[in-house]
Amino acid sequence: MTSGATAHPGVPDHEPVGFDAHDHHRCVETGIAAAEAHCTAEGLRFTPVRRAALEILLGEHRAMGAYELLDRLHEAGFGSQPPVAYRALDFLVANGFVHKIERLNAFIACAHPGATHSPAFLICRMCEAVAEAQSAPARGSLGDAARATGFRIERTVVEALGVCPACADKADAKTPA
Ligand SMILES: [Zn+2]
Ligand SMILES: [Zn+2]
Ligand SMILES: [Zn+2]
Repeated sequence: MTSGATAHPGVPDHEPVGFDAHDHHRCVETGIAAAEAHCTAEGLRFTPVRRAALEILLGEHRAMGAYELLDRLHEAGFGSQPPVAYRALDFLVANGFVHKIERLNAFIACAHPGATHSPAFLICRMCEAVAEAQSAPARGSLGDAARATGFRIERTVVEALGVCPACADKADAKTPA
């Protein structure tokens, strides 16, 4: 598929990923390669279940709940007990390969593997597709407010709810002007 927007990687880090047509095969390949390199460098074990969980999440540009991931892992030949999925997710989130979407209580593969970043998420309220963008909220007015009160921000969660390009027509049809 082709589109005006070229596929990542190669796009600037601030561009949202996930709503554009792109060479999806590369998402999985690049994500797995980045995780492998990170684990090798840090002496971490990229076990088969961790790899399988990341592959499943990289294959989707949407957030997946732990139980759905567990089902998929089970289909792939892994155990069916919830700790199987939770332990893999803990590892993937702790190492930045996967992010948690608080609003959906679900998980999504990082769209900028290997990059240090604070993600912001654009969540479609109709189909729950999620795109990852970059944000630096601590540098904006939130940061000013924190500094003014002596608060030290350790982590911010940015999740925007709206309508993705694929659902825009449906959304317009439902709310005629
Ligand atoms: Zn993709
Ligand atoms: Zn990310
Ligand atoms: Zn949508």
